[in-house]
Amino acid sequence: MDACPYKNGGVVMAKKKENIEEKLAKKSESMWTTLKKNDLKKALKFAESYREFLKEAKTERESVEFILQEAKKRGFKDIDSYKSLKPGDKFYVINREKSIALGIVGKKGVERFNLVVSHIDSPRLDLKPNPLWEDGESSLALLKTHYYGGIKKYQWVSRPLSIHGVVYTKSGKKIPVRIGETPGDPVFVIPDLLPHLAHKAQGDRKLFEGIQGEELQLLVGNIPIEDKDIKHKIKVNILKILNEKYGLVEEDFNSADLEIVPAHEPRDVGFDESMLGAYGQDDRICAYTSLRAVLEVENPTYTSLSFFYDKEEIGSDGNVGAQGNFLEYVLVKVYTLARGDFKHHEFLETLYRSKALSADVSAAINPIFKNVHDIQNAAKAGYGVVISKYTGHGGKYGSSEATAEFMYEILSLFRKNNVPYQIAELGKVDEGGGGTIAKFFARYGMDVVDIGPGIISMHSPFEIVSKMDLWSAYLAYKVFLSQ
Ligand code: MN
Ligand code: MN
Repeated sequence: MDACPYKNGGVVMAKKKENIEEKLAKKSESMWTTLKKNDLKKALKFAESYREFLKEAKTERESVEFILQEAKKRGFKDIDSYKSLKPGDKFYVINREKSIALGIVGKKGVERFNLVVSHIDSPRLDLKPNPLWEDGESSLALLKTHYYGGIKKYQWVSRPLSIHGVVYTKSGKKIPVRIGETPGDPVFVIPDLLPHLAHKAQGDRKLFEGIQGEELQLLVGNIPIEDKDIKHKIKVNILKILNEKYGLVEEDFNSADLEIVPAHEPRDVGFDESMLGAYGQDDRICAYTSLRAVLEVENPTYTSLSFFYDKEEIGSDGNVGAQGNFLEYVLVKVYTLARGDFKHHEFLETLYRSKALSADVSAAINPIFKNVHDIQNAAKAGYGVVISKYTGHGGKYGSSEATAEFMYEILSLFRKNNVPYQIAELGKVDEGGGGTIAKFFARYGMDVVDIGPGIISMHSPFEIVSKMDLWSAYLAYKVFLSQ
């Protein structure tokens, strides 16, 4: 008989027995149960300020304005007002009212940049350049639209919509437009077809074609002007109203930026009020959390910046998108003002040492359509900000994929600072896919990884997020920028 390897038999054995699952397997818990009471309070308060931001900033221009005002309150100054930059200096750079960068110079100057980059545009409808017409047979005036970004068109009908943007009159006067957001304002609507008559006209169409691009037209008027000599009486009456209220003529539509967005306010979702539902959380949830992070950073070691881009939803092209050279434009300014000189090869070294978080949303599991996810690799609402080692589609096409080294660095940073996070992919392999702006930073040699909260019903007029994931994103960006 073998000798018992344990003294005193089972008693000590029981004591020594370890829970091998606890030791080896990954744990994952809802932040609603793990967060300490005090932090929970802070998180819910944070959600209230986020709600105010979502109310104010429904377009890229309104986001830039909000970000600028908050930055000024916190002592950030126009970078062109500095003759040189020293550690602790806070600056902003604006690009055409459509993208903006904020930064704070670190103790080690421009040895390395730490960036959090997000986007402030969201899928929506834009007015066509010649939008207004009158349909005599129905006696209604309409505005034609051209959709922007990846929308499901059928989601935009039969709901109150507002118009936001900027128009320039012929004389060069800038007219800011925001109609449909204030109580008492009219709203606009794309009329859907009644079910009684929809069987043939819509019933045989595939879901995505239930409403087609040219059918996305807003109802804007019904009253004919009293003038026998005018042919398009309802249209002209609308022009008269626009002229009296804003000084506009029809031609002014030609040069305007006018965007149609849902007119509703952000609302709590659920009996437990655990979630926020609102338009434009992709990606203004990352914009707001990274804004708060950069505003609150104190004495970072490295120079920390947050970038807020336009045009992500249509591929990041153009001079205000992440593929434009706004990044170089800003970083060369900062680098030169901080050093007093500019050496191109040394600047490239700095870029290679720099690190970035691509702050964009991921998808949280929608319980009604679980099939599109590999549940083991999918994000759960309330389990913290989602880290995606890669995005893209098919065989990871279009992804900049973070290295194991950088993933380790980021995960270690979050573990050390108690930032709750989860690791996930968007959906099943070959189910579909999506891209982010990460790769446009990776091309400079920076380490980049995608980090953002999981959203339910992404790209819909009413996107949903768990308040816990909002809080976790803020913690993640702040810890990163505070390095
Ligand atoms: Mn996005
Ligand atoms: Mn998007």
